[in-house]
Amino acid sequence: MKIHQAEFVISNSDPAKCPKPDRPEYAFIGRSNVGKSSLINRLVQRDLAKTSGKPGKTQLINHFSINSGKLTPKGETAWYLVDLPGYGYAKVPKNVRDQFAGMISTYLTGRENLRCIFVLIDMRIPPQQIDLDFITRLGEERLPFVLVFTKAEKLKSGARSTALEIYHAAVAQIFDTFPTYFITSATTGEGRDEILAYLDDMNKA
Ligand code: GDP
Repeated sequence: MKIHQAEFVISNSDPAKCPKPDRPEYAFIGRSNVGKSSLINRLVQRDLAKTSGKPGKTQLINHFSINSGKLTPKGETAWYLVDLPGYGYAKVPKNVRDQFAGMISTYLTGRENLRCIFVLIDMRIPPQQIDLDFITRLGEERLPFVLVFTKAEKLKSGARSTALEIYHAAVAQIFDTFPTYFITSATTGEGRDEILAYLDDMNKA
């Protein structure tokens, strides 16, 4: 899939105020600083999402419209990309974090056009309980998700295999099968084509 058009639509903290669910939607989420904004920007080849050295900055549900409007050839599916708040940032007070958890779960469980949740995982570090807890919740709610390993260019192929093996072992405690996953780097663009092809398939499904 080509990205012909990408623009910001709305940010809000109230899932009820999300745009009309009239097209496929895909949400991106992960621990603060996982590289979510960088990856989103790399995917759409525009500076849509705010990258920052300040983890926890994106505290809203951010909708971006992709491939709608004049610049998009006829027949191309329009879809929403949603940038969700990063979770697990220690410096955000606990009650605020709980509110995020509430807002995020209301959105994730209630959004009828949500086709897949892209859960970003920093490939350089061992499996984090908060990520495992998060995907456990997704499994319990029967919400479709894939794993996106980030910052992969920092690992040589041996270290990648080891990281994946360790992840397989951790996820095997939760699920019978390993979810679909992508190995990505916002720095090199690795994984971009694969994610776009996957989105294309889901748009057509
Ligand atoms: P977010 O908080 O998840 O949105 O993360 P950001 O996209 O703001 O990135 C957090 C930090 O990770 C920044 O310092 C980025 O430069 C860095 N980063 C993001 N993507 C990559 C990547 O693919 N490779 C490397 N090495 N660093 C990255």
